[in-house]
Amino acid sequence: MNEKQRLSRELSAIAGDTLDFLKTGFRSETGEKASERGSSTGADRGVDSAPPEAGPREPEAGRAKSELFDAVVKQVLTCTKCPLHRGRRNAVPGKGSIDAAVVFIGEGPGETEDIRGEPFVGRAGQLLTKMLAGIDLKREEVYITNIVKCRPPNNRAPLPEESDACFPYLERQLALIDPKVICCLGGPAAQVVLRTSQGITKLRGAFHRYKDTPVIPTYHPAAVLRFPDKYRRDVWNDLKMLRDYLRDLKKS
Ligand code: URA
Ligand code: SF4
Repeated sequence: MNEKQRLSRELSAIAGDTLDFLKTGFRSETGEKASERGSSTGADRGVDSAPPEAGPREPEAGRAKSELFDAVVKQVLTCTKCPLHRGRRNAVPGKGSIDAAVVFIGEGPGETEDIRGEPFVGRAGQLLTKMLAGIDLKREEVYITNIVKCRPPNNRAPLPEESDACFPYLERQLALIDPKVICCLGGPAAQVVLRTSQGITKLRGAFHRYKDTPVIPTYHPAAVLRFPDKYRRDVWNDLKMLRDYLRDLKKS
């Protein structure tokens, strides 16, 4: 084989690799996912659902999504996988529609959430409700959860070992809901979901990816409450990005 032939072989191998990468690593942003969306809304699935216990080795096929989701919720409610379980009054699995097009992910339950067993129901939660209304979304039609399901002491950010221990629950919730887009609220949520150490200021304002789902990171509503002049405009721009993305999906 002469030099020219070798070069041409190498080039076509590189082209093949690039094509494979494009095929496997990316999905058309507007493309429907292969999985079908169920017609039931599954709204309000959260701490107050009392599903039958799932057999651990039961095959998944044929089991309703709601049943599988309820099994995750039930596991969270009694979980002792990390030290955060010791200080909790209630674990907070998440709340909303299991057929949601958007999942919002915060950092961890605060005091009000720990008392009520529901995510984002304190002051930051009230602002989140308003932010959602600003882009024509109701809480019941999205799913809202956190990277850790039990309250960290004094509302500190979750430690890596705590978010690592809890991540399989979030992973499972996302796999079952299969949302069109994920919105991470604040640096800790964005860093865990995107497996990066980059700060939220760098991450926000752009699309990222979790597996094959687009991710929009933005500032946490608690940050907006503390420094409205600093953060409100950027959060609004990120929310508009989310709204436009959902709109375009509907059109296509
Ligand atoms: N802040 C969060 O990050 N999550 C909540 O559920 C409430 C406040
Ligand atoms: Fe379990 Fe998550 Fe609670 Fe830790 S934070 S005890 S891993 S549910």
